[in-house]
Amino acid sequence: MDCKKVGALLYRLRKEKGFTQKQVADRMNISDKTISKWERGLGCPDINLLGELSGLFEVDIDKLLEGELEPNTLDSGNLRRMKFYVCPACGSVITNTGNAEISCCGRKLSLLIAKPADQAHLATVERTDGEAYVTFHHEMSKNHFISFVAYVSNEKLLLVKLYPEQEASVRLPEVVPMQLPRRYSRRLYYYCSRHGLYAL
Ligand SMILES: [Zn+2]
Ligand SMILES: [Zn+2]
Repeated sequence: MDCKKVGALLYRLRKEKGFTQKQVADRMNISDKTISKWERGLGCPDINLLGELSGLFEVDIDKLLEGELEPNTLDSGNLRRMKFYVCPACGSVITNTGNAEISCCGRKLSLLIAKPADQAHLATVERTDGEAYVTFHHEMSKNHFISFVAYVSNEKLLLVKLYPEQEASVRLPEVVPMQLPRRYSRRLYYYCSRHGLYAL
């Protein structure tokens, strides 16, 4: 990692999001001195913070590591503005592409930050005839299950709800460019009722 480049990118992304160093620090539970240190290139973020930074700034971890974005990455459509909220009281899934404050059941919902998949939350994507078959190796019990899968591209949002005791898999129709490598213009999100939002 080139800390100078990474720092410059973090600074740029933070400004674009309109966050102060303190706001970023608070959301990550670290001190704002640390953010300032990174931005000045005096140190690189710990590897285990990259997932969170990636979610917060909506940028691939790879890009953070390189300290560079392709010129069009930040303008690649609506996807990077797609935000997910889940109401802890009623379980409603709410998506939003603007900056509106979202409330449900009388409380303000906080924005879900997508994490990269960990071992327990891996998704397998198989493609067959214009369909993508997404499978999770995850339990589907009442208090711990995958509760929705969302495919987001510039053109569309496709959201599939899952329920306990169902199979942990979904068939997404006509999801053409599902194959990796990840591109910012297309993403698969999924939500574990206990562990939160993941993105592929
Ligand atoms: Zn609600
Ligand atoms: Zn889980």
